Amino acid sequence: MDAERLKGFAELIVRVGANVQEGQEVIIQAELDQPEFIKLLAEECYKAGAAEVNVEWSYQPLKLVNVKYKSLDRLGEIKKWEHEKLIHRRDTLPAMIYILSEDPNGLDGMDQEKWGKAVQMRWGIIKPIRDAMENKHQWCIAAVPGVEWARKVFPDCTDDEAVEKLWEAILYTSRAEGDAVAAWREHNAELKLRCEYLNSLGLRELRYTAPNGTDLTVGLIPEAQFLAGSEKTLGSGITYNPNIPSEEVFTSPMKGRAEGIVYSTKPLSYRGVMIENFSIRFENGKVAEVHAEKNEDTLKTMVAMDEGAAMLGECALVPCDSPISNSGIMFYNTLFDENAACHLALGDGFTGCVKDYEKYSLEELRELGINNSMIHEDFMIGFEALDILGVTEDGREIQIFKNGNWAF
Ligand code: ZN
Repeated sequence: MDAERLKGFAELIVRVGANVQEGQEVIIQAELDQPEFIKLLAEECYKAGAAEVNVEWSYQPLKLVNVKYKSLDRLGEIKKWEHEKLIHRRDTLPAMIYILSEDPNGLDGMDQEKWGKAVQMRWGIIKPIRDAMENKHQWCIAAVPGVEWARKVFPDCTDDEAVEKLWEAILYTSRAEGDAVAAWREHNAELKLRCEYLNSLGLRELRYTAPNGTDLTVGLIPEAQFLAGSEKTLGSGITYNPNIPSEEVFTSPMKGRAEGIVYSTKPLSYRGVMIENFSIRFENGKVAEVHAEKNEDTLKTMVAMDEGAAMLGECALVPCDSPISNSGIMFYNTLFDENAACHLALGDGFTGCVKDYEKYSLEELRELGINNSMIHEDFMIGFEALDILGVTEDGREIQIFKNGNWAF
C-alpha cells in the first residue's frame, strides 16, 4: 500500500477518530503483526501533541498457549502493578486506539470456558475502573489487514494480493480517501439528521419481522436517544469518532424488554471463534434459548458470562444500501460487518444514549434500563427482507425500515 495513503489513514484515526489532544497520553492496542503501521500511528499521535504513546501488543498464538498452560487462578488474577496501571489510566484519561488485524479464526480451539472464567475473575477489579472512565475519554477502533484475516476474506488470492485488496476495502469503507476530514464531517452531519428524525418520534418499541423467521419486539427507554457517528467526552467536551468506519444509527434498548425470536444473517466472531447460522429466542427480555449450526457451545458460554450478557444492550439500524454492504465483501470482523447490516448487541448498553446523561449518576442510568455487562457483542440480523416498525408512546406505528433500507 502506498505510503501516503497509509499516512493519511493514520492521520484520520488520530485526528478524527481519537482526536488526540495536546499533552494527552495515548494507549494503542494492536496485534504483533503490524509494527510498521503502529509506528506510523504513534508518530501521528506525537504530531497531534501526545505527551506519550504506549503500545500494548497482543499475539493470538501466544494467547492460545497462555490459556492452555496457565492455571485459572493466574489467568484470572490482576497483579498489583497491573492494577496500578489501570488506576493511572483512570486518573489520566488517555486516548485509547484499538487497531484490529487479527485472524477471525485465530483463537479456534481455545478453552472458552476457562478463558470466560478468567475474564469473570478479572472483572471485579476492572469494572469500577471502566465505570469511572465511562464517556470521559476518547477512544477509537479501526482496522488494518493482517495476512490471515486477508486470506479469509479473499481466499482465491495470493497473500500479497489479499492484503492489498483488504487495504483497498478498508480505506474505501472507512472514507479515508481524499479530504477524509471533510468527508467525515459531511457523513456525521447526515447521520445526525437521521437521529433527529427518529428522536422526534418518541418511539417506545421496535418490531423486527422478516421471512427468515425473525419476529422480535424490543422495548426502548423513553429517556434514551438514537445516536450516530461522532461523540463528545463528558466534562472536556472533546469530539471523537469511536468507530472507523461507522454507518450505524443506534440506541440502547430497555433491558429486560424483548420478546420473540431473531435469526442471524452473518456469522459472529466471538473471541476468535466463528459462531454461524444461529437464532436467539427472548422471553421477558432475557435469552431463553439459543441454537447455532456451528459453535453453539461458544454462544451458550457467551450469553452466560453474567446476568446482563443474556439481555440486549444495543439496537443498531444500518441500511443494506451502505458502502460496506455495497462492497459485497464479508469481512468476518464485527467492526465492518456491524456497519453493513442492522444488528443487536447482547450485553453492556451505552449510558451515553440517555438524553442529558451527565445529569444522572451511573446507577440512575442503569435504573432507567441501560444494560450492564462485561460483554458487548454485536450480531447481525439485517438483510434485504428485514422490516422494522416503530411504535410510539400513543400506539402509532411508523415504518422505520422496509426491505432492509430506511423507510423515510
Ligand atoms: Zn453497533
